[in-house]
Amino acid sequence: MRPDDSNVRRSICPRCGLPSAEGLCPKCLLASTTLLSCPRMVELVICATCGCQLVQGRWQIVEIPLEELIFRAVRGSVGVHVDLMDAQIDVSISQRGSTRYLAKVSVEGRILGLEAKEECEIEVRLRREACDRCSKMAGKYFEAVVQLRGSGRSPTQEEISTAENAAHQLAQSEYRRGDRLAFIQEIKPTRGGVDMVVGSAQLGRQIASLLHETLGGNLRESSKLVGMKDGRDIYRITILVRLPRLRQGDIISIRGRLMEMKGYDRNRAILEDLLDGGRHYIPAEEADVKRVLSVRQSAKRSVIVAADESAVEILDPESFQAVIAPRPKHIHIKPGDEVDVIRIGDGFVLLG
Ligand SMILES: [Zn+2]
Ligand SMILES: [Zn+2]
Repeated sequence: MRPDDSNVRRSICPRCGLPSAEGLCPKCLLASTTLLSCPRMVELVICATCGCQLVQGRWQIVEIPLEELIFRAVRGSVGVHVDLMDAQIDVSISQRGSTRYLAKVSVEGRILGLEAKEECEIEVRLRREACDRCSKMAGKYFEAVVQLRGSGRSPTQEEISTAENAAHQLAQSEYRRGDRLAFIQEIKPTRGGVDMVVGSAQLGRQIASLLHETLGGNLRESSKLVGMKDGRDIYRITILVRLPRLRQGDIISIRGRLMEMKGYDRNRAILEDLLDGGRHYIPAEEADVKRVLSVRQSAKRSVIVAADESAVEILDPESFQAVIAPRPKHIHIKPGDEVDVIRIGDGFVLLG
């Protein structure tokens, strides 16, 4: 007896004619489904000088190799069917010219219970331009000048190096934080100091306040109208950083005690008592008017001949006569030790 076919719902695929549960069979359904959608072309805009990339109208720092950048752009441009399971995407890139690349993309996975694979090719074009930052640097653009000067003296070589290092470091970190104009256009020695010409007013102010914090002194900012852009006034600022008269290593007397200048912390001078090593902070203006009695740089080597609790006998480094000096509480010494001493008035002081 033959089975009665009329009771079983049988359907055939309208495309290939093979049996199918309903409508197109999975094979034909798969054939008409797009698993991988690819643009014909991907364009990358890169700065010819610094290599940064224009993304949605904004220049961004690129910290990966160009190949990787292209790879990511291609990968980001393709769409994969949401129902494709265990999708595995492969991208291979080959260079076809100085600014042209070809990317081959393939995807494999499972869909409708079948293994499926699809491929596409994407043309990649590099457009090299000058970014906002590089074109401004090339055009000698600047918004601020930080002038480093001393009061009644020139900045020392050490202060100048400190200032230059600080400026370079700040320019780097501000650039990384997104200030596109955080660059140093020029550092030029001038009579009595150095001028640092920088791209952004913000960077100029940061450099000036860091110098003020670490080297002391005071700040004065002035601005000048230099033109208009898009209906707005354009100013250029000049910030004068006037370093204090006293420097590190200067020995002064505060309320009868000998102190060595150690540096500045904002508006305070940091001093160290030469006889007990104690730290003192006094207003910078108060220190600034004191007479410099000696400087650490003028210290000479001497030797301890004898020592008791409050005094030491040392050899005068010039005359080699034995002389008495106060014994500093914070320095460990014993007869025979070599020490640095400075002459102050007609006596000597040991330095730690
Ligand atoms: Zn079919
Ligand atoms: Zn650039």
